Amino acid sequence: MLYQRSSALFKEAQEVIPGGVNSPVRAFKAVGGTPIFAKSAKGAYVYDEDGNRFIDYINSWGPMLLGHAYPPVVEAVVEKTKSGTSFGMPTAIETEIAELAVSMVPNIDKIRFVNSGTEACMSAVRLARGYTGKDKIIKFAGCYHGHSDSFLIAAGSGAVTFGTPNSPGVTQGTAKDTLLAKYNNLENVKELIEANEENLAAIIVEPVAGNMGCIPPVEGFLEGLRTLCDANNMLLIFDEVMTGFRLAKGGVQELKGVDADIVCFGKVVGGGLPVGAFAARNAIMNHLAPQGPVYQAGTLSGNPLAMAAGLAMLKSINSDQDLFKRLDDKTKYLHKGIAEALNRYGITHTINRIGSMISVHFHEDSVIDFDTAANGNNDQFKRFFHSMLKQGIYIAPSAFETWFITDALSYEDLDETIKAVEVFAKSEA
Ligand SMILES: *Cc1c(COP(=O)(O)O)cnc(C)c1O
Repeated sequence: MLYQRSSALFKEAQEVIPGGVNSPVRAFKAVGGTPIFAKSAKGAYVYDEDGNRFIDYINSWGPMLLGHAYPPVVEAVVEKTKSGTSFGMPTAIETEIAELAVSMVPNIDKIRFVNSGTEACMSAVRLARGYTGKDKIIKFAGCYHGHSDSFLIAAGSGAVTFGTPNSPGVTQGTAKDTLLAKYNNLENVKELIEANEENLAAIIVEPVAGNMGCIPPVEGFLEGLRTLCDANNMLLIFDEVMTGFRLAKGGVQELKGVDADIVCFGKVVGGGLPVGAFAARNAIMNHLAPQGPVYQAGTLSGNPLAMAAGLAMLKSINSDQDLFKRLDDKTKYLHKGIAEALNRYGITHTINRIGSMISVHFHEDSVIDFDTAANGNNDQFKRFFHSMLKQGIYIAPSAFETWFITDALSYEDLDETIKAVEVFAKSEA
């Protein structure tokens, strides 16, 4: 494959955009090489500026659950555009998508739309603080909740009392209000609660983690968080930006039967346009302005194009009785094929999977939290990534990312992917 035009475009971009990209992971820093510039996409495939075709397992990092350029979404957006693209006034379609979302997701009465997952999580935490009158939050190492200051906190041995920011620009004042816990480790959460009891507003968690590879919650973890929140007057925030409308119509709340107090959405809910949302029961949502005192706003929030895309997407998901079964079957098939290909050549690995999320880790221990996810053989992952790319398979350029399976993938596409894994495995043996 040739990447001449992508290379030239990347050079040009670096002159006027920091690092040549508008979101860091796109720059291929973790795997080396030049990022591929996308030109178009349709169904399961993305085409680059050099005319190469890739089977796409990134899918815009999640939104394209039903494939690229999904006709109902494209038609809805094109049609909507003709009658004006933003008004800064309420529109009927906002209520329409809100009603549909509230009917699909358990345990919520009201939903507020924003422009990104970051905004959704940031606003959810503000709401939790305003509602409880407390300051601190607990988050889990390896969980990503967008790039707002409170979430860019890494652990140190002092994490029990004070977090340490892991980006310059995040103040100590902000960092001290975010406590860091280990995913899938209830004991660790209990210790943090005991040490900070009076001032804890919320626990925010990816109920199925997807930003350190795919890590499902262990038995009892989410239930335990629910119990701890209830016992300590804290709110439980499920960040379902990745899992919402992907793992089930009602997300992980439905899948695992555990209720959150506030739920965050993004990605799939926008059908590929910039949309995020957060939702809760009336008792909590009524604290939000203009009804209540907790401020939150957005010039383009509930934008008609974004709402048209999201509504078309949710309607398709809601009316397709077999969708989640089909996605699960495809992901299982891929899992089995990849495992067999790697085993045939003795490549040590662990594969995590739930619904349409899957990740391949190059070590044999089970991957249950950030530490175990970070254990993988990163050099081997880099070789894997570039081997797959060369064979026309586009997986995320980082060992810490989940692959997103779309309904547009055919079994032929999956077989082609498995064959590519086998070629890689053979070259490693
Ligand atoms: C992608 C993601 C976010 C951030 O969403 P953006 O739209 O990129 O701001 C937050 N939480 C989770 C779980 C995500 O996967």
